[in-house]
Amino acid sequence: MILIFLNPGHSLGGNPDPGCVNPRCRLRECDLAITYGSLCGKYLEAAGCEVSLLQSHNLAGESPEYPCVVAAANAWEADVFVSIHVNAGGGRGGGNLLLLATRRRRAAGRLHPKAAH
Ligand SMILES: [Zn+2]
Repeated sequence: MILIFLNPGHSLGGNPDPGCVNPRCRLRECDLAITYGSLCGKYLEAAGCEVSLLQSHNLAGESPEYPCVVAAANAWEADVFVSIHVNAGGGRGGGNLLLLATRRRRAAGRLHPKAAH
């Protein structure tokens, strides 16, 4: 079984870090990231993967009052780590960013053939 750790970007609920925010409609990156992460997690579980999901802006312990993403992923011994962001492109456009890290190339290859190269 592949263990997949999903990290929707920025803070759960947007405080203190909502990510990018659309100034007109107030749509926040943190809300999109948790929605995409939750949907992705359900899909992966249905496909037979084990999923853990944590949304926190505290990636490596820089904000100790919040859950540390890297420590949680390592403690869980995740095979694959996916961080989900929906960037604003500096205000000139948009971009989706998916950061993928794996402990085992074989696991990555089963998820996506290009990930193993
Ligand atoms: Zn982001």
